[in-house]
Amino acid sequence: MQFKTIIEPFRIKSVEPISLSTEDERLQYLKNAHFNPFLLKSDQVLIDFLTDSGTSAMSNNQWAAMMQGDESYAGARSWQHFEHTVSELTGMAFILPTHQGRAAERILYGHLGGTGKYFISNTHFDTTRANIEFSGATAIDIPVPQAADLESDYPFKGNIDTDKLQQLIIQYGENIAGVILTVTNNSGGGQPASMQNAKEVSAICKRHGILFILDCCRIAENSYFIKQNENGFQEYSFKEIAQQMFALADAAVMSSKKDALVNMGGFLTLRNKTLADACTQLLIITEGYTTYGGLSGRDMEAIAVGLNEVFDADYLKYRITSTRYLGEKIKSKGVSIVYPVGGHAVYVDAKKLFQHIPVNQYPGQALVCELYKTGGVRSVEIGSVMFGKYDANRNLIPAPYELVRLAIPRRVYTQSHIDYVVEVFDEIIKNKTTVKGFQITYEPEFLRHFTAHFKPID
Ligand SMILES: *Cc1c(COP(=O)(O)O)cnc(C)c1O
Repeated sequence: MQFKTIIEPFRIKSVEPISLSTEDERLQYLKNAHFNPFLLKSDQVLIDFLTDSGTSAMSNNQWAAMMQGDESYAGARSWQHFEHTVSELTGMAFILPTHQGRAAERILYGHLGGTGKYFISNTHFDTTRANIEFSGATAIDIPVPQAADLESDYPFKGNIDTDKLQQLIIQYGENIAGVILTVTNNSGGGQPASMQNAKEVSAICKRHGILFILDCCRIAENSYFIKQNENGFQEYSFKEIAQQMFALADAAVMSSKKDALVNMGGFLTLRNKTLADACTQLLIITEGYTTYGGLSGRDMEAIAVGLNEVFDADYLKYRITSTRYLGEKIKSKGVSIVYPVGGHAVYVDAKKLFQHIPVNQYPGQALVCELYKTGGVRSVEIGSVMFGKYDANRNLIPAPYELVRLAIPRRVYTQSHIDYVVEVFDEIIKNKTTVKGFQITYEPEFLRHFTAHFKPID
């Protein structure tokens, strides 16, 4: 018997009220926030799909472990728990605890990067790219060509294009400082990479003596897709699949705010001692001593427990099927989404939904505002607000897609919350031709999406 209802594999011991609001109130909040949901107060939001980063609900076992936190400066018990868990998972000898993923990135890419160096990835996440470019190096994205077709059902759109990788190696040779496989590919729609692809990339890197790095924030979710969709993995546990992937890499960068099921934390793991020694210097200077880095003892305890919980088969099934449930429901109403649905988020094609809104009036921003006004749902525009540029005449050079991301926090919302969001889409679809575009009334020079102000166009 296959039941249709997705059972959350937990019951709720502690609740956090969310404040209900009326559409009139939300319109006022939105005006006060200059039509930019980043500027809303969180208690004005009913369902917060802004990000899955650091928004997980911790388990009773994680909270209990936090009380066991050993805050000794050096050699703490909590460090031993953390180190044991991370080294068992990654198989890497050198483990550097950091306060979040970008701190690990700054250490590794700051050390390896510099002017004239190149990094190659399926898609660099924005903090990854920023740390690489800040060092003076160049970041090149080479997702497989299948990733460009948003609606095809190719199962591994997170793969690296290995033909292009070999061309780039011929072109840039020794100036390539590392190849980064991001699993799942966050900026590419949360799409998974296959083990086969990781093996090929690893072999190419080995052949040329290039460092192969895993950006492993969502490696448990990626393992679920491998077990489901790649031949030869049905017999392995999710954790074993992740271990096989780590075994292919020379280094890994982790934001624990994703698949470690905590609210803050990260780490860097390495196999090579010389590289580890150099990075450890930077860790001590900018994060903290080697046995805590950027973390307190209680944080390391919570990560150690979370990194095991995340591979639980019932949890992963609930996680991936509930994300897919939202995506499939929205798609069944005729709304275009990035397909197949990724692990942590649903990406809606706002350009297709609001065909009457030209890209220079930001259809993605229109959908973000509509979702909030109609249902109190907070999401984020991933289109020309985030990635658009101007030409010399201040005409918009649009981003390739006008997407809106609905990122789902882990273990936070239930199926009824998701069903409510689907109903909000029903309302939006009903009135879609009346939705207006936006113009930007204020914008900073960098990362404008966080703080820009907007005005609806009449
Ligand atoms: C979140 C994220 C990072 C950065 O981690 P932070 O903890 O936010 O600093 C790096 N890479 C990917 C793929 C991410 O999703």
